[in-house]
Amino acid sequence: MRPGATMRAGKSSGPTAASRRDLTPRRSALFAPLAPFARRGAGGSNRCGNKSSSSAASRGFVASFGGNSRSRASRLVVRADGGDDAKPAVEEADPVAERAGIETGGLSDLMAQLAALQNENSKLQEDIEETKSIIASVKPPPEETAEGEEMDPAMAGIEAFFNQPQQKPREPIGPGELLSPPDEAAIVWPEPNENPKFWERPPIRMPENLDPKTCEITTKPLHVVHVTAEMAPVAKVGGLGDVVTGLARAHLCQGHNVEVCIPYYSSLEGKVEDVQHVMDFDVPKGEQWEWDGEKEIRMSDFQWSMYSGKIGGCPIIALRPAFREGSNLFVGQRIYGGSYNEAEAYLSFCRASLECLRVTGRDPNVIHVHEWQCSAVAMLYWDVYHAQGLLNNAKVMLTIHNMDNTGECREEEFMATGVPGSEFNTLEKAMDERTIGHNPERLCLMKGAIVYSNYVTTVSPTYAREALNGSAGFLGKTLLKERTKFSGVINGVDTEIWDARLDNFLPANFKPGTMEGKALCKKYVQMGLGMNVDPHKPLVVCISRLVPQKGINLIEHAIPRTKEKGGQFILLGSGHSDPPFQNLAESVYKNDKDVKLLIFYSDALSHLLYAAADCVLVPSMFEPCGLTQMIAMCYGALPIVRKTGGLADTVHDVDDPSMSDSKKNGFVFEGADNNSLDGALDRAMRYYHERKPWWKGMQEQVMDIDNSWERAGEEYVQLYRMITGIREDNDHY
Ligand code: ADP
Repeated sequence: MRPGATMRAGKSSGPTAASRRDLTPRRSALFAPLAPFARRGAGGSNRCGNKSSSSAASRGFVASFGGNSRSRASRLVVRADGGDDAKPAVEEADPVAERAGIETGGLSDLMAQLAALQNENSKLQEDIEETKSIIASVKPPPEETAEGEEMDPAMAGIEAFFNQPQQKPREPIGPGELLSPPDEAAIVWPEPNENPKFWERPPIRMPENLDPKTCEITTKPLHVVHVTAEMAPVAKVGGLGDVVTGLARAHLCQGHNVEVCIPYYSSLEGKVEDVQHVMDFDVPKGEQWEWDGEKEIRMSDFQWSMYSGKIGGCPIIALRPAFREGSNLFVGQRIYGGSYNEAEAYLSFCRASLECLRVTGRDPNVIHVHEWQCSAVAMLYWDVYHAQGLLNNAKVMLTIHNMDNTGECREEEFMATGVPGSEFNTLEKAMDERTIGHNPERLCLMKGAIVYSNYVTTVSPTYAREALNGSAGFLGKTLLKERTKFSGVINGVDTEIWDARLDNFLPANFKPGTMEGKALCKKYVQMGLGMNVDPHKPLVVCISRLVPQKGINLIEHAIPRTKEKGGQFILLGSGHSDPPFQNLAESVYKNDKDVKLLIFYSDALSHLLYAAADCVLVPSMFEPCGLTQMIAMCYGALPIVRKTGGLADTVHDVDDPSMSDSKKNGFVFEGADNNSLDGALDRAMRYYHERKPWWKGMQEQVMDIDNSWERAGEEYVQLYRMITGIREDNDHY
């Protein structure tokens, strides 16, 4: 099948009509009074030149251009009288006369200008007061904003502007120094009722002059394009987003050319750095109908828009249906769960990604696809693009982050790629064996990608073994067949994002040897959430998607158990299994000063909780890799985990005699019942109370463990080199 795309370049990069339409009357009303601020900045020349549109201009004032409002380099004098032929309305100030204190128009002109400026100043003051009073009048009273409910972003932004905590300016940080040293007096302590919430405060301080990374630069850079549904921090729901960003950044740092192709979700609007509209291009799309047993296929071109930009400093290709299509694909408040068909959305995205590579002349060495959402890329790459010589260079790598969802798909749904699903619906290709005998059988996208990829990884060696030993269900069979190209690579943690020493969400930073900041973080969280402020109560934190995989019964059990043992418990979670926890939050634990159940998603709060935690609980039923236990260790919190998948690979019990002391880093249990959990949780509580110096040593020890992407990233580079045959100059094999 001929992809047949045509390219239309050069649409405006400004806000789309859709985003303009999204502005609600309430927001525009709110922003209208802020307009006077614009007059103070380095605005466009028409602001001061156009007498009728600017009251300030008609009164006469001095405007500065060139970015810095204090710059005197290109000052213009706008005449109060509007000017005549001899004296134009706008003329350049005479810098020599100005330095001498004499304006071109003489002393009386100067006095008139001064009066106009004073007048302007008092008008601006009035505007500020008026804006503040409008904000106060539309702001919901605190009791109307339910705990965890999200505030209107426009309101939160304005509030944050006026309520910015006044932090002391600090000197730039030197190598190895803390971003915010533990200075109790410098911290603006939070209160439970403050709005926006304390975790929504502007970051305390941006890390300037970070320590330069010491990674080895490659002699043979590879061009890698990731195709993914998630990318941290702005398009993240779980670990997939963290992994893509962490891996991409580790490889960029080594000098590889890395790009990440993601859907341009409407929730990403305003969150992508340097975003630019690059082009619109047509992508084949089909629909399949069946009338009285007769199949009818309709093909059409569907236009997509390509944007470039950066997320977390990493170059991205963001794709979404062009505005003219009027499509709702990827429109919604969240990454998943919009009111569109997910199979159709991601299948179309897969085709658009490959088409985008083709029309932009990219021919990467590796196309690295992630999860079922992007699995069709592997199938289409070989059977459509490579087969027709449209893309030639690449090898394909699939990473499976979770086999819980493998991408079931009906034949007719696959038509969203512009290729009939029947092309792939055979046992050797992508047929879902569980549907044999159905009419017609369905496809399994992840199986298709396993078959079609040059290499397949999953995110830990234990999860890979578990999959081959039967826990992956019918997919296990396919993996067994393809086992020579399948292995587990344990994920890393992005140690720039998760760094207790430089994390700018924290009120005080810390590192092994200087741990005082951790105690301040704990106090900060206890105060902000209205908990008992007690440094001696062990704080257990659980940050998780709330889905059965994560052991929700055990999480529920751990809450009262922790309290019984003299500890505190904070849950930050969201997902399908929210409701029971939401109920508990609003009933049993509503006024509990030792338990907080926060049923929503907040990246900023997660940073604060990891830093505050003494222990982080991960009682998963199965866990491909798990990042929370590794992130916890970066912040000196000891993990309490169930021994499964990547948790078994990364956490080793402090009482395991078969482990060397340097490897021991947490509390591990095996069974899936409450008693098993209690065995580990109770020990953690006891050791916290009874073995203070040991606990402190353990905290510092786990912070020193290398869970970084440098190690895991290197394993991926070796695999990329193996499938592409592109070796480093000094590689001998
Ligand atoms: P999974 O990918 O199965 O969700 P991982 O442990 O691999 O599990 O990754 C979870 C990631 O998502 C971690 O970065 C964790 O901090 C984050 N996370 C999970 N739930 C929330 C939440 N409610 N708010 C903020 N971050 C969350």
